[in-house]
Amino acid sequence: MANIVAIVGRPNVGKSTLYNRLTESRKAIVDDFSGVTRDRHYGQAEWIGKKFTVIDTGGFVHGSEDVFEAAIREQVLIAIEEASVILFVVDVTTGTTDLDDEIAGILRRSNKPVYIVSNKVDSAKQVNDSAEFYSFGLGDPYNISSMTGSGTGELLDDVVSHF
Ligand code: GDP
Ligand code: MG
Repeated sequence: MANIVAIVGRPNVGKSTLYNRLTESRKAIVDDFSGVTRDRHYGQAEWIGKKFTVIDTGGFVHGSEDVFEAAIREQVLIAIEEASVILFVVDVTTGTTDLDDEIAGILRRSNKPVYIVSNKVDSAKQVNDSAEFYSFGLGDPYNISSMTGSGTGELLDDVVSHF
């Protein structure tokens, strides 16, 4: 099976910032063309000599709140089918929301490895704030800042252990 890492989560948690960091200066291999793929970006990444594809989900969701949530749910379900590893990104500055809890529930029922990525941990004093993400029941949160790149190395070490 191909090495595919899908990035999921509600809007504004930093999925695309993380995607851009992981796929830095690498050309997207598939452009948005139709239907559900319009909401997804695929890029190539490499860590310690291991190559993998990264999917950024939920890029262009429009419509009412219900449509919006349904679209996110759909992206999570596709990610579970398509990806070998899932990065569930949450925002340490806002904490857990209902939508986060809903996504976590779907991911708990999947049989895929899921990593909780506590994003926007820009300084060490925010690390303790990630503790609330243990309540998802999906293991230890990885503290990262997609903006600075802090913590992404530890996350990637564990992600590529599946490849
Ligand atoms: P997405 O909707 O999940 O794809 O989120 P984006 O990647 O578009 O980011 C949403 C906002 O969060 C943008 O203003 C980013 O600059 C900001 N952001 C992303 N990562 C970080 C981070 O690590 N720290 C901080 N402080 N802001 C971040
Ligand atoms: Mg985005």
